[in-house]
Amino acid sequence: MKTVKLKLSRVKSKVRKEYIKRFPLSLAPHPFSLYEKLLVQLKSSYGGDARFILMPEHGQGMAPDSDVRIILRHDLDTDVCLRQSLKIAAIEERYNVRSSWYVRVDEYQYSISDCNEIVAELVRQGQHVGLHAAPYIYTDPLKALREAIVTFEERFGFRPPTFTVHGILSTPIIKKRRVAFLQQLSQSQDGFPFCDSVRHTYDLAMGDAHFTGRGNTYLARNEWQRILNARRGQSILILNHPCYWGKDGIRTSAGTL
Ligand SMILES: [Zn+2]
Repeated sequence: MKTVKLKLSRVKSKVRKEYIKRFPLSLAPHPFSLYEKLLVQLKSSYGGDARFILMPEHGQGMAPDSDVRIILRHDLDTDVCLRQSLKIAAIEERYNVRSSWYVRVDEYQYSISDCNEIVAELVRQGQHVGLHAAPYIYTDPLKALREAIVTFEERFGFRPPTFTVHGILSTPIIKKRRVAFLQQLSQSQDGFPFCDSVRHTYDLAMGDAHFTGRGNTYLARNEWQRILNARRGQSILILNHPCYWGKDGIRTSAGTL
C-alpha cells in the first residue's frame, strides 16, 4: 500500500511540474471567445499562408508544402462534447473554417442514436466526420476496430474515411497495449481508414486536455505560442474536446482523452 501511495504521489508531482512548465493559458471550461481568438490568430499568422485542411488531406499528404497546414480535430468523448459540438461548429462557420470530427460508437459515454442528427448536420456543413475508438482495450484490437467501422457505417450510412485513437487513463499495461495496437495497424494490409497516430504525424500540436492534477484541464500557453510561430511547410494539430468549452462546459473528465 505504501509503494502504491508513493508511486501515486510521484505521478502527481510530475503532473504538477508539467503544469507549471507549460504555464496555463486558461483552465477549463474555456470561454468560446478564446476559441474564436485562436481561429483569428491562426488566420492572421504566417503571412496569410495558413491553410485549414481536413484529416483525409493530411493523410494523403496532398496539401502544398508552401502553406502552414492546420488540422482542427474534435474528439467527441462524452455527452457534453456532443451537446457543445454544434456550438463550436457555428464558430468555425463564422470564420469559414472546416474541421474534422470524431464520434464514438462504443455506447460507453453516450448512445450512438444521440449522434445521428449531429453527424448529419456536420456532414451537411461540409465538415469531415470519422470514428473515435479505443480498440486496444479489446483482446483482438484489429477485430474490434473492424467491428467499430461496420457499426459506424451501419448507423451513419458511410464508412469512416479516417479514425482517431481514444485515450484511456494510462497505466503501463494500457500504454503497452496501445503501442502494440498501433504497430499492428501500421503493418496491416487490410485497408483500414487513415489514423493520424500511425502515419503523417504533426510538426506541432496543441491540446486542451492537459491535466493540472488538481481537478482541472487546461490549455498550455507554450503550445499556443509555439503554433503561432510555425514555419511554412509545417503541419499543426489543434486537438479540441468541445466538453471543455463554453459556460456549460466541464472542468475535467479524467479517464477520457
Ligand atoms: Zn477521446
